Amino acid sequence: MEQAIAGSGPDRLLRRLRAVMAGSYEAQERLDTIVGDIAESMVAEVCSVYVLRADSMLELYASHGLKTESVHVSSLRVGQGLVGTIAASARYLSLDDAQKHPAFQYLPETGEEPFNSFLGVPILRAGRVLGVLVVQNQERRKFTAAEVEAMATTAMVLGELIATGELDSLSGKGSVLDLSKAMQSEGIALSDGIGLGHVLLHEPRVVVTNLFNEDPETELKRLREALLKLQVSLDVLLQSGSVPADNESREVLEAYRMFAHDRGWNRRMEDAIHSGLTAEAAVEKVQNDNRARMMRQPDPYLRDRLHDFDDLANRLLRELVGKSSASAKDLPRGDFIVVARNMGAAELLDYNSSRLRGIVLEEAAPNSHVAIVARALGIPAVGQLPGFVSNAEQGNAVIVDGDEGIVSLRPPGDVEGSYIEKVKFRAGRQKKFRKLLDLPSLTRDGVEVELLMNAGLVMDMPQLELSGAAGIGLFRTELQFMISATLPRASEQEVLYRNVLDSADGKPVTFRTLDVGGDKVVPFLETITEENPALGWRAIRLSLDRPALMRTQIRALLRASMGRKLRIMLPMVTEVREVETVRQLIKREVELQTRFGHEMPRKLELGAMVEVPSLMWQLDELLPAVDFISVGSNDLYQFVMASDRGNARLANRFSPLGKPFLRVLRDICVKAREHNTSLTLCGEIAGRPLSAMALLAIGYRSLSMSPAAIGPVKAMLLSLNVGLLSQTLLSALDGQNADEMTIPELLTDFADRHGIPY
Ligand code: PEP
Ligand code: MG
Repeated sequence: MEQAIAGSGPDRLLRRLRAVMAGSYEAQERLDTIVGDIAESMVAEVCSVYVLRADSMLELYASHGLKTESVHVSSLRVGQGLVGTIAASARYLSLDDAQKHPAFQYLPETGEEPFNSFLGVPILRAGRVLGVLVVQNQERRKFTAAEVEAMATTAMVLGELIATGELDSLSGKGSVLDLSKAMQSEGIALSDGIGLGHVLLHEPRVVVTNLFNEDPETELKRLREALLKLQVSLDVLLQSGSVPADNESREVLEAYRMFAHDRGWNRRMEDAIHSGLTAEAAVEKVQNDNRARMMRQPDPYLRDRLHDFDDLANRLLRELVGKSSASAKDLPRGDFIVVARNMGAAELLDYNSSRLRGIVLEEAAPNSHVAIVARALGIPAVGQLPGFVSNAEQGNAVIVDGDEGIVSLRPPGDVEGSYIEKVKFRAGRQKKFRKLLDLPSLTRDGVEVELLMNAGLVMDMPQLELSGAAGIGLFRTELQFMISATLPRASEQEVLYRNVLDSADGKPVTFRTLDVGGDKVVPFLETITEENPALGWRAIRLSLDRPALMRTQIRALLRASMGRKLRIMLPMVTEVREVETVRQLIKREVELQTRFGHEMPRKLELGAMVEVPSLMWQLDELLPAVDFISVGSNDLYQFVMASDRGNARLANRFSPLGKPFLRVLRDICVKAREHNTSLTLCGEIAGRPLSAMALLAIGYRSLSMSPAAIGPVKAMLLSLNVGLLSQTLLSALDGQNADEMTIPELLTDFADRHGIPY
C-alpha cells in the first residue's frame, strides 16, 4: 500500500484525499488520516499541520511522526520559527538541514530533534494564510520541485477543510481565525492621522471551493475557453481606442495581453489540472506559486511583471467562477481603508479619492515609496503588520491610527467612540490653526519667521494655500521618478515643474535635484547592491556621474521657469567643487537654451543641502559659493550620530535635541550669519513644535516642513518670546554641568511656564 501511494504521484494522493474529505470521519480523525496519507505519499517520517488561530498563533493540529502529546499543545507565533516564517511570508521553505536555518526554533515537546530535512508550505485559501503544512525527514535530502508542487496542491485541500469550520472545536486554546472578533494590532506608524472606514482589500479574493475534477478534459476545455475570453477582452479593450497610446495603463494592458498568451503559465495550469484539480483550483494553485516567487524576487521590475500575472490570474478566476469583474478600483460606497500585503506608490495614487481614509500594509517600511506618497497625500497609514490581510474581510469596519501605529479591526463600540472623539478633537485643533493662517508669522517678541512647506507632487500644491505656507522650501523632485513606471521624459518633467510654479503663483519654490539612490529606489535607473546604501552612490554623486540625467532635469527646470525666479538645490553635497561643477553645467545649459529661444529665469539661485558632516569644516568655502543653504536634518542627524534614520530600534535612543546635534545646528547658523547667506532647515524636526522652538532659539528664521505641521508650529511661535528662550538655551548648550536639566526638559519646562503649545 505504501509503495502504491508513494510511487503514484500527486494525482493518486489527490484522489485519496478526495475520498477522505468525502468520507464520514470525526474532524480529528479526518485530519490524522490526511497527514498519514501525505507522509506516505511524500515518503516522509513526519507530516504536520499547523492551523492559524485568531490570536495569530499557529497551533499544531495533527502530526504523523511527532509526539502525540504535542498535538494541540505546541504552537508558534506568526513570524516565529520556520513554521511562523512560512506563515508570515506566505512562501514555502525547503531545507536539507533545518537546524542551520536562522529562524529554526526547537520545540522539545514535539521530539523533532532528529529530523534534518524540512519542507513547509503555507496553507492558502483565496490569498489568505490559514496554516502551514510540513514534512520532515531524518536523512538530509533536497526536495524536488515536483514534491514542492505536490505539497502546495495538498495544502489547498487542507485550506478547504479549515474553511469548512470543521476543525474549529479541536483547538487547544483559542479559536481558529474568527472573522467576527475585534482585533487590535500594533505595527509601525507610516503616516500621521486617524482614519475610520471599511476595509477595501487591494486584492479582492475569489474563493475557490470546487477543488477536485471529475474529468480533466472538461476542465482543460473550461480553462482554454476562459483564457480565450480573457485574451479577446484584452484585445477589444486595446483596439477600442479608449486607452490612449503613450498612456501608462496601455503599457500595462499590453503586458497583460502578452502574458495571457504565455506558454509557461498555460502549461503550469494544465499540469495542475492533470494532477486532479479543477480549472479554477489550477489557476489558484499556479497563482499561489507565483505569489511566492513574487515575494522572493529582489528586482523591482521583475516583481512588477509577476504582479501583472497575479492580476491576470484574478481576472481568469473571476471568468471561471462567474463573478463580475469588479476590481479593487471599483470603490465601495462610503469611507474606505485600503488593506494590502504591499503596494506600489502608483497603485496608491489610483485609489486617491476623498473617501480614502487610510492604508494598512503588512510589509512597507517608513521609507518605502508608498509611505512617502501616503504622507504626501496626508493619508494615515500603518505598516508592518504580518498576517493582517488574513484577518480582514472586505467591508469590515477598521480604524487606522497613524499617530500610534495601531490598527483596530472590527472595533468594539467603545473603541470606535473614543476614536471618533479623537478625530473631533483633531478637527477642532485644525480649525483653530486655520484661524492663525492670516496672522503675520511673528514671535511674541516680534521676530519674523518664515514657514515653508515640503512637497513633491502636483497634488501637494493646494496645500500651499490651505496651510498658509510662505512658499515651498523643499520640492522633492525624485517623487515623480519614484511613482512613474518609466523614466519621466524631459517634457513630462517640464510640465510638472511648470505646473508647480504656476500654482505657487509667485511664492518661492526650491526644487531639489534628483535625490535617488541608496534607499530611494527608482526601478528604471541602474541600481547596484551596496553595503552601505545611505553612504553610497546616491543623490548628487549619481547625478554627476550621469550628466545626461542631470542636464535633462536642469533643462526642464530652466524651460519651466519662463522668466520667473528659479531656485535649485543640490542634495548630499560633500565637497564644494560639486557645486561648482553643477554651476558650470547650468551655465552651459542656459546659454544653449537661450540660443534656442527659450525664455530663461529672471533670477537663478543655486543652493546646497547641508546634510553631510564634511561640510561643517568647509562652511567658509561653501557659503560664499552658494546663494542659500538648507539643512537636511534627517540625513545630517543620521550621519553625525551614526544612527540609521530608518532603524526603528535606534529611533528613540538619541535625540536631535541633545547637545551634540544642537551644537552642530547652531554652528551652521552662526556661520551662515557671518557670511550673510540665506539659511533654511527642511528636515522632520522643523515640523515638531518643541524642536522648532529650539531651532528658533539657536537662530533659525526659516523652516520648511510638511503642510500639516505648519499650524502647530505657528501656534507655538506666536506665543514664544524667542529672545528669552535663546538666552537660556544658548547658555545651557555650552554648559558642562551634567546635573542640569537636559535640553528637552529645559524646553518643555520653558513651554509649560510660558503657556506655549507644543
Ligand atoms: C533631509 O535629509 O533632512 C531631507 C530633508 O531630505 P530627505 O528626507 O528627502 O533625505
Ligand atoms: Mg536628505
